[in-house]
Amino acid sequence: MPTYPPQAVTFVRGEGTVLWDDHGKRYLDFLAGIGVTSLGHANPVVADAIAEQARTLLHVSNLYGTTVGPEVAATLDRLIGGPAGKVFFANSGAEANECAIKLARKWGGRGRHVVLSAYGSFHGRTLATLHATGQPAKHEAFQPLPEGFRHVAYSDLAALEAAVTPDVVAVLLETVQGEGGVQVPDPSYLVGVRRLCDERGLLFIVDEVQTGLGRTGRWFGFQHAGIQPDVVTLAKALGNGVPIGACWARAEVADAFVAGDHGTTLGGQPLAAAAARAVLAEMERLDVPTRAAEAGERLAKGLGALPGVAAVRGQGLLLAAELETPSAKDVASAALAAGLVVNPVTGSALRFEPSLLVTDDEIDEALSILATVLAEGAR
Ligand SMILES: *Cc1c(COP(=O)(O)O)cnc(C)c1O
Repeated sequence: MPTYPPQAVTFVRGEGTVLWDDHGKRYLDFLAGIGVTSLGHANPVVADAIAEQARTLLHVSNLYGTTVGPEVAATLDRLIGGPAGKVFFANSGAEANECAIKLARKWGGRGRHVVLSAYGSFHGRTLATLHATGQPAKHEAFQPLPEGFRHVAYSDLAALEAAVTPDVVAVLLETVQGEGGVQVPDPSYLVGVRRLCDERGLLFIVDEVQTGLGRTGRWFGFQHAGIQPDVVTLAKALGNGVPIGACWARAEVADAFVAGDHGTTLGGQPLAAAAARAVLAEMERLDVPTRAAEAGERLAKGLGALPGVAAVRGQGLLLAAELETPSAKDVASAALAAGLVVNPVTGSALRFEPSLLVTDDEIDEALSILATVLAEGAR
């Protein structure tokens, strides 16, 4: 269906940070499928794990036990830290957030069901997560949307506090707004939100679908603020391209669900879980958060030095370059033609989120392509 604009390029193969199109042309991929292939394309360890699981057991449904998903849940619980938690596996980020929203409603009980989220946020495309997404223009064509969502300005604690009424049960936030243009909140914001949620008895749901799993230079974005959320949602990088989502909640919150409250046919099945198990093991072995922090510093510094770049923002390898002229779409198109995949995340900003294993040489090559493209655009 025509839900995306016509595609300029058709990719047929990838390896690490490199993609090839159907004409054999080579590209450097600095989008990684929107922060998904954090361990690079065709990662051999993940590929072997998928193949091995495909020969062993793909699916039996959640009416029976399997062994791989529980291992992934235990690893996520350890990496998230804090009080012991429990995990529900889904197939996407939107589904992980749906789980978090349903869990919050069940935990809050009747009359406490409103979820506060931020303008500029992105939480998914299902009807409920679309309403949670704080972009009113995206809502219009699909009204009426499920009731129970209100939006406040991002990185504005006073606005959030003023919006807390007795029917509010949870606050849902990204630690950096990815789709919203790579917006990093004030350093004190998440700490303040945590305190507010404690004072008012609200759940703090952190949407780490894009920021999670090393992308920002820590395992999770919330760790930059030194806080502990009640619920964490994940997806994108968890399967390195195999669809999987996860909703983690600390145990007392997770236990608001009883058998029958939520479910999924495919979520957590052995194939996706085997990919996630291999992803997490490789991420730990290679210490990808540290690598993302180092590579991010090199990329941010290089971007900041390019003519035509007014400012660089972001964390780790989730970066945006604000251009001096609002021409991000044209610059991204020219970069693509020159063999570099980047995303025009707003009218005036380019988003960069390459594989966390991107090399220094690849970063330098991307910067040089971009320098040429920007210089030609200015002529
Ligand atoms: C991509 C994204 C989603 C939606 O994930 P899907 O897998 O496309 O459903 C939700 N939240 C955030 C922060 C995202 O970046």
